[in-house]
Amino acid sequence: MVKEEYDFVIIGGGIFGIYAALFLTKKGLRICLIEKEKQLLKKASIVNQARLHSGYHYPRSVATARMSDDNKARFTKDHEQFINFRFEKFYAIDRFGSLTDAAQFERFCEFIDIRCEPISKHPYFNFHRLEALYQTTEYTFDPILIAHYYKEQLLKQSRQIEVKMYTQVAEATAQGKHWTIRLKSLNDETFQEIRASQVINATYAGSNSINQLFGVRDINLMHEISEMAFVSSPQVQNIGLTVMDGPFGSLMPYGLSGLLSLSSVAYTHHKVSYENLPTFDCQPQNPDCNPAFTSVCNACPVKPQSNYRKMLGQIKHYFTDEVELNYFTSMFTIKSKLKANYIDDGRPTEISILNENPLFYCIFAGKINSIYEIEKVIRL
Ligand SMILES: Cc1cc2nc3c(=O)[nH]c(=O)nc-3n(C[C@H](O)[C@H](O)[C@H](O)COP(=O)(O)OP(=O)(O)OC[C@H]3O[C@@H](n4cnc5c(N)ncnc54)[C@H](O)[C@@H]3O)c2cc1C
Repeated sequence: MVKEEYDFVIIGGGIFGIYAALFLTKKGLRICLIEKEKQLLKKASIVNQARLHSGYHYPRSVATARMSDDNKARFTKDHEQFINFRFEKFYAIDRFGSLTDAAQFERFCEFIDIRCEPISKHPYFNFHRLEALYQTTEYTFDPILIAHYYKEQLLKQSRQIEVKMYTQVAEATAQGKHWTIRLKSLNDETFQEIRASQVINATYAGSNSINQLFGVRDINLMHEISEMAFVSSPQVQNIGLTVMDGPFGSLMPYGLSGLLSLSSVAYTHHKVSYENLPTFDCQPQNPDCNPAFTSVCNACPVKPQSNYRKMLGQIKHYFTDEVELNYFTSMFTIKSKLKANYIDDGRPTEISILNENPLFYCIFAGKINSIYEIEKVIRL
C-alpha cells in the first residue's frame, strides 16, 4: 500500500493546531491536520472567557503574567478586528477571604508594569464588598469570529494542508526518520496509513492519550469539566470585572457578541480529574466519551446541571442593586492544567519535544494569545 507522505502531521484542530499548520505552510511544507470531531474548533478554543491576558490575572505567577504581556501585542495586531477594545475593565479585591490584598496587587502591577488605577467611586459597584477597585487595560477577543477566521484561512491553504475530520489515530510507530501513523475514519470505520517526518500533538485535554499512542511520556495534567455562563445586562454591557484572588468570579464581554461571559473559581468547575487522562464519572453514560477520547461536553446528553444561579448570586455581590444580570445560556468543555501550576495558578504554554528522531512535539496551551510559541520551538 502506498502511504501518503507529509512533512508534518498535526493532531488536534483547535486554534493551536490550526495556527501551527498555517505557520508551517508559510515554509512551503505539506501538512495533514487530524481532528477527531466532526467540526473544528468546538472545544476550549471557543469555550473560554476570551480574556486577552495582560498579566493581571496571575499575581501568583510572574512568569505567566510576563508571557501573557509579551504575546499580547502581536495577537492584538493580528486579530484586531475580532477584539473588543470598547469596554472598561476593572479588577477588584474582595474584602473577605482573598489570597491577595490591595497593597500586594498594586505592587505586583507595578512590578510587571501594567496599568492599575484605584477607583473609589462608581455608580455600579458595591464598595461594602470590595476592598479595592482598579481601572485597568485588558481586552477580550471574540472566539467565535476568530474560529471562523481560522477556518477560512485553512480553506485558503487547502493545497498544502489536508484536513482529515472525524478521524482518530489508531496506532503510531517510529520507523527510521519517519512516523508511520494508522488512522481510523470514524465515518466508515476504515483505516489508512500515512507517514510524516514530524508530529505535533495539539489536542489539549487529549494530550496524553496521543502521547501514549506515540510511545512518548505523559505530561502531568489535571482536568476539570468547566462551565462558562453567558448573560446580558442593560447597565454593565461595556464593563468587565474580575475579582482577585481566590474563589471569586469574572464577568466580561464575550468579544463582540454583546453577551457577557461569567465564570467563578468556585462554581465554573463541576468535576475534577487528577489523572493524566481526563477521567470522569459521567463517561460511562456516554458511549462516545472515554478518558482516551473525550467528546464535546457542550453537546453531551449527560453534561452537568448548570451552576449559573450560584455564579450569578456570587457576582451580584460586587454590584449595586440597580445592575440587572439576565442569564442566556452556558457552554461546557474540559479545562486542562499542568499539575505543576496547582499552587501558583499559572497558565504557561509549554511545548515539549517528547521524541527526537523522528521529532514529536506536544503543545500544551495555557492561553490563546500564546499561539506563536510554536515558532520558537519548531525545527525546520
Ligand atoms: C473554561 C476556560 C476558560 C479559559 N479562559 C481563557 C481566557 O480567558 N483566555 C485565554 O487566552 N485562554 C483561556 N483558556 C485557555 C484556552 O482556551 C486554551 O489554552 C486553548 O483554547 C487551547 O487551545 P487548543 O487548540 O490547544 O485546544 P482545543 O481548542 O481544545 O483543541 C484541541 C482539539 O484537539 C482535538 N482532539 C482531542 N483529542 C484528539 C485526538 N485523540 N485525535 C484528534 N483530535 C483530537 C479536539 O477535538 C479539539 O478540536 C480557557 C480555557 C477554558 C477551558
